[in-house]
Amino acid sequence: MFNEEFQLDAPIRWGMVGGGRGSEIGYSHRAAAQRDRLFTFVAAALDLDAERGRDFGTKLGLAPERCYPDYKTLFTEEAKREDGIQAVSIATPNSTHYEIAKAALEAGLHVICEKPATIHVEDALELKALAEKQNKMLAVMYGYTGFQMVHQAREMVRRGDIGAVRVIQMSFAHGFHNTEIEKNSPGAKWRMNPEVSGPSFIIGDCGTHPFYMAGMITGLKVKSLMCSRQSFIESRAPLEDNAHVVFQFEGGAVGTLWASAINSGSMHQQKVRIVGEKASLEWWDEYPNQLRYEVQGEPVRILERGMGYLHNDDPGVSANRQGGGHAEGFFESWANLYHRYALAIDAYNRNDKAFLESHWYPDIDGGIDGVKMVNACVKSADNGAVWVDYD
Ligand code: NAD
Repeated sequence: MFNEEFQLDAPIRWGMVGGGRGSEIGYSHRAAAQRDRLFTFVAAALDLDAERGRDFGTKLGLAPERCYPDYKTLFTEEAKREDGIQAVSIATPNSTHYEIAKAALEAGLHVICEKPATIHVEDALELKALAEKQNKMLAVMYGYTGFQMVHQAREMVRRGDIGAVRVIQMSFAHGFHNTEIEKNSPGAKWRMNPEVSGPSFIIGDCGTHPFYMAGMITGLKVKSLMCSRQSFIESRAPLEDNAHVVFQFEGGAVGTLWASAINSGSMHQQKVRIVGEKASLEWWDEYPNQLRYEVQGEPVRILERGMGYLHNDDPGVSANRQGGGHAEGFFESWANLYHRYALAIDAYNRNDKAFLESHWYPDIDGGIDGVKMVNACVKSADNGAVWVDYD
């Protein structure tokens, strides 16, 4: 069972860049970070519109003088305070992640950055090197990987329950953009602009999630890939709203990814299916409390969250917060991840390398992998869906 009593010596003083009023993902960060009282929200540059950001920040309980007009002022002014922020989350559009994360690390902050981590692979590598130099945590918000059943799948693969992995099927294919909704939605509009979104829309926006999750569950690395992408809403070109990717993994496994925003009628279809030589596992984010375990020749088993037969890889974190049968969901997954970030930050502050080596959280390596995958897909698709080496 989740240990609610565990606390650090003091909560981590935490700020945000982006995630302003009406943003898609700002509330998720605030809800998750503050869930276990490990982070205290004390300062922010929440919005491109400074006045709106200040008004929103004060209504979230921030002191008016700590609602800053932009991220540079946030980092500079907070560094002057004895009680200044120690960590920051970046929830702004994709093209801004690199410069903001770089400035945050240079200011000596721990960083939780939204995905895709950056647009260019070199930028993500540079951020990794900078975080190492500064001895700070650099995490990437792959928010679906805090679910207990995802960790269960990871452990089952690791202990050999399904045998060697042969096939990985990934999808994140929703229908929310099957018409040109960006005409009336600022959050959708920047996603269709290559200067802000990067060279891809839906592979970066959604495909990176199951891709990271599959890598986390199986530990397999991509060798090469082939991608075909389309813009069914023509005005989105060159950015795709639908893509199919075929992967070859090191060691012989193969896989596919369907990333789509035009899968009419679908809510998410974020699924990861791992086919092994003995059995298969399948997780679907619309039913996150269950994991399908299909052994060849036996009836399908549906493993349920919160049950004693599950492996519990860390009773303090990726455990059930509520007994089995009570549905847990998105916010619990995010809170589990923020809990892991807090423990990592604490270990960085104590220079506890042994803890950090054994402590899992979505870090910049996963961020680099996601950016690499997106760029390799674009290269493949734009050269006629050819095979490209991953590295
Ligand atoms: P959004 O357009 O809804 O909101 C962006 C917010 O950032 C707005 O409040 C805007 O004013 C603010 N902003 C923009 N530039 C800024 C700057 N330079 N300084 C301060 N504030 C700034 O976008 P969103 O949908 O919330 O997406 C934000 C990021 O989060 C994207 O990178 C996206 O890929 C990612 N995201 C991740 C998940 C997930 O599950 N992890 C889900 C949705 C979005």
